[in-house]
Amino acid sequence: MHVLITGGAGFIGSHLAEHHLARGDQVYVVDNLSTGSLTNLKPFRGNPAFRFAEADILHWNGLSEAVAWADRIYHMAAVVGVKKVLEDPVAVMATNMTGTERILRALHHGGWNPQVVIASTSEVYGFNPQSSFAETDYIVLPSAGRLRWAYAVTKLADEFLAFSYARKYGLNIVVVRLFNTIGPNQVGHYGMVVPSFVKQAVHNEPLTVYGEGNQTRSFCDVRDTVVALDRLAGCPEAWGEVVNVGNDQEIPIRDLAELIIQRAQSASPLHYLSYKDAYGEEFEDVTHRRPVLNKLRALTGFTPEWTLTDTLDDLIERERTQNLRVA
Ligand code: UDP
Repeated sequence: MHVLITGGAGFIGSHLAEHHLARGDQVYVVDNLSTGSLTNLKPFRGNPAFRFAEADILHWNGLSEAVAWADRIYHMAAVVGVKKVLEDPVAVMATNMTGTERILRALHHGGWNPQVVIASTSEVYGFNPQSSFAETDYIVLPSAGRLRWAYAVTKLADEFLAFSYARKYGLNIVVVRLFNTIGPNQVGHYGMVVPSFVKQAVHNEPLTVYGEGNQTRSFCDVRDTVVALDRLAGCPEAWGEVVNVGNDQEIPIRDLAELIIQRAQSASPLHYLSYKDAYGEEFEDVTHRRPVLNKLRALTGFTPEWTLTDTLDDLIERERTQNLRVA
């Protein structure tokens, strides 16, 4: 199979590349390296089944050729992370919406119909006060232009672009709403909690818990996520649909911090930081975010294999090994 991965040097994209190369597929990654990194691609360099283009999806002139070549496309290229979104909302709007439209247009104009996965996010549920979210639940967003929600709005626009092309032109597209994915290659400098806490714990530095730490999240190991995405892409009943992807085991952020300290046998204290100090005035955190996974299970039979503790142990070990290598 020929697999094109936009944003393939990023966290989830690089795991998709690894998954498909291990299966004997041909993999073509395009990435502008804005948040993705060449380090993530290092293990595949020199593999004849692997090809990389450093390009921005907004201007890439190899796009038509690549979509013609592909049997499957994972569109993961996006500006992600709360910090980035607040820093550069213009880039978020352009990359996340125009990028997706360019790909869909290229498919339609060329008359190509590969399997397509469009990455959306649990952020689209917005401020809905429920604690768990099914695909049919309401989306609640503030009506005054709060830029903190720019990411959610662009991803929602991507979803509607995908549904429009799927409906009008019969394209085989599935939209996935990803819930808090964690694992190797994820970096903390765009605000993600698990890599930040793991690094802080391994270095015996204070773990920065935002707010009171009562907010909950459900974390899914990326090695499970890629299995779910692979199955959904190849599932005709999923085309034209939106599907939650994640793990439904939930944990308060304070408990997560304590668990990481315990697993790392760390001497780190907890350091509580107000949301205002963490993100600035504009930020509004989501209190609970757990996926309802009935649709994913019904379509693919998927159940996650990684427990949170297993993932944390693996990440702690990797952080330690990396430090030894650097030292
Ligand atoms: N968070 C935290 N300390 C950090 C980074 C994040 O307490 O150093 C909190 C954050 O406020 C949120 C949760 O951890 O409630 C998950 O944050 P992340 O950015 O990883 O994911 P998202 O907010 O998109 O669910």
